[in-house]
Amino acid sequence: MEYIHSKGIGKIREHAEDFVRKRLAPSFIPNDGKQTPMKGHPVFIAQHATACCCRSCLGKWHHIPKGRELTEREINYVTDVIMRWIDMEIHKDSMR
Ligand SMILES: [Zn+2]
Repeated sequence: MEYIHSKGIGKIREHAEDFVRKRLAPSFIPNDGKQTPMKGHPVFIAQHATACCCRSCLGKWHHIPKGRELTEREINYVTDVIMRWIDMEIHKDSMR
């Protein structure tokens, strides 16, 4: 949470989009299923929480088929899902 506040939400979105492009968008990902660490960056946590962590989860939960590159639309969609979850977490935290 501190990390998000210090970076600003705009920067976090940039990171999220960058991870999606590099780790999820290619048509073939040799380490698919293992490309998203379980901890570290808040975006990684959000990716696991929203089933945006690998192409198998994207296929199963978001109906985005494996074996082809993600479209710009899908990259945006996945980034939005991740950011919505982070936003929810931020607001949950401020209600405590
Ligand atoms: Zn997964």
